[in-house]
Amino acid sequence: MIERTGIGASPGVAIGPAYLHVSQMPDITRRRVEDHTAEVERLLRAVASVGTRLSDLAATHGEGSDEAEVIGAHLLLLEDPEFTGEIRDRIESESVCAEAAVSEVTEESAGMLESLDDEYLAARGADVRDVGTQILRSVLGLPLETWDALEVPSVLVSQDFFPSETATIPPGMALGLCTEEGSATSHIAVFARGMGLPAVVGVDLPATEPGTLIALDGETGQVYVDPTESVIRTLRDRQEEQRRARASAADRSRQPALTRDGTRIEVAANIGSDTDASRAVEAGAEGVGLFRTEFLFLDRTRPISEEEQYEAYRTVLGAFGDHLVVVRTLDVGGDKQVPGIEIGEELNPFLGLRGIRLTLARPQMMRDQLRALLRAGTEGRLAIMAPMVSGIADLMAFRSALAEAEQSLAADGLPFAADYQVGIMIEIPSAALVASRLAPHVDFFSIGTNDLTQYTLAVDRTNREVADRADHLDPAVLRLIGETTSAAEAGPWVGVCGEMAGDPVATPILIGLGVKELSVAIPSVPTIKERVRSLSLEECRDLAARCLQAADGAEVRGILEGA
Ligand code: PEP
Ligand code: MG
Repeated sequence: MIERTGIGASPGVAIGPAYLHVSQMPDITRRRVEDHTAEVERLLRAVASVGTRLSDLAATHGEGSDEAEVIGAHLLLLEDPEFTGEIRDRIESESVCAEAAVSEVTEESAGMLESLDDEYLAARGADVRDVGTQILRSVLGLPLETWDALEVPSVLVSQDFFPSETATIPPGMALGLCTEEGSATSHIAVFARGMGLPAVVGVDLPATEPGTLIALDGETGQVYVDPTESVIRTLRDRQEEQRRARASAADRSRQPALTRDGTRIEVAANIGSDTDASRAVEAGAEGVGLFRTEFLFLDRTRPISEEEQYEAYRTVLGAFGDHLVVVRTLDVGGDKQVPGIEIGEELNPFLGLRGIRLTLARPQMMRDQLRALLRAGTEGRLAIMAPMVSGIADLMAFRSALAEAEQSLAADGLPFAADYQVGIMIEIPSAALVASRLAPHVDFFSIGTNDLTQYTLAVDRTNREVADRADHLDPAVLRLIGETTSAAEAGPWVGVCGEMAGDPVATPILIGLGVKELSVAIPSVPTIKERVRSLSLEECRDLAARCLQAADGAEVRGILEGA
């Protein structure tokens, strides 16, 4: 038996024969061509054949399924002037062969998106790489992965998988996934979590024969090649335990989450697009705790119009009926750059023109978004939230912008929400520390633990070198959360929408500190609801009080494990 440890990317145990998948990217040579027309025709034939293949594939998946969405996005890329248009331009302007133009433009576009170190953008980068590779193979007359050789349910092992490959895995044939590349937020991890497939990524596997027995634990990140009988037995027991836990969580996902002693905790979803809304409802989300609207601004050369935003917000509000939908105003800057919104060179972008600082500096953009939101607010229960508020001046400026947007809508005779909530993200330590002075002016605080951890511990959230220091269980972060909930005792409700809300280890502390709402990634909704049901408020309070006194995150973990 050989044992390796990678990154546990999607929970669950998988045991089965290895199916070795070979990465598709072929090597190419950059050739000069004289006949541009013939070369462009080669490209167009390849694009058309990939288009036909994708359309055929789309027809085999149900409308609205994740697979159909991936394929739909890929079909759009085939017509994207900034992608296939750019490939064509490259052939014509640089007299280069089609395969080199495809390969270069794919690499540049995907590399740009992936370098932004953001889960959604990285997934888009993977889409570009995927479609680019399909076109490239078609230009070169090479076949695409058909999974024909996958004859028995297996653990799929590869350097990496493209989204089109994962979307075409025959149902029931993947027991789990294991890749050399990838991180906890890479496409394959997001895909596996979405599909409920156990996965370990970033693992350095030894050369393995096809069919060799592989076992993996997507929680601990352990992978066993040719496991012993006793390892198999232990993993099978774990598998059964997890299956039972998942089944009971799913059964009760539509029911509210009450602690053992009867305190209700709202479990909402974090979404990034209007199309996420129905999936979130399905998973049992009691509303949206964070709609990251910056994702609506991607993939375009100019900011999205008021009208287009209005349609997207209406869809989400309509999907959630009586449940609250918290929409965050545009949060770009830092690691999130959006085409068409120029910020300029900054030495410390995370400390620069980011979130509300940027939108206050671009009043027209802020006005368009607030008008769209207020208009859509007639369709459901709307809450508007500002990101990166550092103190009272930002909050008051935000409230004035809202008042102005209301006045302009009234002047235009357009209907808008009569009643909506206003809140802010608490993600900068200064805001947590003066929360008592901010509380009278808001309906809620939503704690962004990703940034709160980054700014409290001075750990760049995009820098792998210091990633192990970014611990949301550090008592300094916990104290700021406690500061916020105490300041809000008599007034606003407090939620958490950073990744910490989806970390079951942290749930008792957050509840004990007085958090009333947890907003998490869609697939985590049932699990976090179950976690809440296993706790008692009284015990959580006691635990939280002890954790606040700890010296560091390790001591906090010790307290939680001993509880
Ligand atoms: C956060 O900072 O915790 C948060 C939820 O916002 P984002 O991750 O989008 O910065
Ligand atoms: Mg943030």
